[in-house]
Amino acid sequence: MAMARLTIDLGALRANWTALAALSEGETGAVVKADAYGLGAEKCAPVLAAAGARTFFVAIAEEGLRLRRILGPGPEICVFSGHMPGDRDAIRDADLVPMINSIDQMLMHVEGLPGHPFGIQLDSGMNRLGMEPAEWSALRDIALAQNPRLVMSHLACADEPDHAMNARQLAAFRDMTDGIDAPRSLGATGGTLLGPEYHFDMTRPGVGLYGGLPFVDAQPVVSLDIPVIQTRDVLPGETVGYGNTWTASAPSRVATIAGGYADGIHRAMGSAAYVWAGETRCKILGRISMDLIAVDVTGLPELPDHVELIGLHQGVDTLADWAGTIGYEVLTSLGARYDRSYTGA
Ligand SMILES: *Cc1c(COP(=O)(O)O)cnc(C)c1O
Repeated sequence: MAMARLTIDLGALRANWTALAALSEGETGAVVKADAYGLGAEKCAPVLAAAGARTFFVAIAEEGLRLRRILGPGPEICVFSGHMPGDRDAIRDADLVPMINSIDQMLMHVEGLPGHPFGIQLDSGMNRLGMEPAEWSALRDIALAQNPRLVMSHLACADEPDHAMNARQLAAFRDMTDGIDAPRSLGATGGTLLGPEYHFDMTRPGVGLYGGLPFVDAQPVVSLDIPVIQTRDVLPGETVGYGNTWTASAPSRVATIAGGYADGIHRAMGSAAYVWAGETRCKILGRISMDLIAVDVTGLPELPDHVELIGLHQGVDTLADWAGTIGYEVLTSLGARYDRSYTGA
């Protein structure tokens, strides 16, 4: 079989939620958008619910509908994109809580689903989603009279604890919400780590649950092992892969492994990246292809039948550094062509 094996440690997922919950002042939610950051909401969400999460967050109503089928009745499911045209049936049938982002969304919600719960998303400076302070002033009394389930905002720079933007957004959020009765939420993983001032009534961690930075103490959740299809000897002066970007300077042994950029292994990390054969680090040679990668296995006492790309030696953030991206993108890019197995449930 030439299928790479992606293993997702549900015990580590549970431990990460529990560790973040122990740091949080109030309730701790769980963000499971994008199919639980690519790891599979069907498996991950029930584990998070069993660990104690009662409030879940998704990006769009369709994800909420699917999550409701997975979790059943009970947990609150909040939708960051709010109430969009065409969302009414999903919001009603799956009992979703849209985070209302504008006066237009508020009107659509109260006209389409009078009395149905909602939350409010405020923009505290990121300029991505949520009502601006002026819009909020206009709507505030009407909205608060209907007891929103949550009033939230999102931090732009929480992964940089010393960034002045954090305190600025905290002050803006407090300006907009101090004194209200509704529960408040500001921090995601980064905001949870910034400390209790940023917690309010609910934290909303995502990436930290799945083992990514900025939660440095996270347990790794993902490992990826890739089978070796073939090995060959190359002589000095011979090249490997598309574009001849790597040339052997000494007699070398090259293993070809069964994974590539179609599996979400970023081609951009090519020349910087390594895999591990047991305890030996092996360099990736030349360009990453769609389905194949060449690896230097020169001098290994035994040729491996598989190598580790993600695991205890190097995590998603190591790969992200090599590719000039973030762990979030490595996670959510993990492809559909893996033999996925879940352990530690
Ligand atoms: C994605 C997201 C989160 C979770 O963020 P992490 O950095 O992954 O913890 C929380 N809140 C909002 C609004 C988001 O978009």
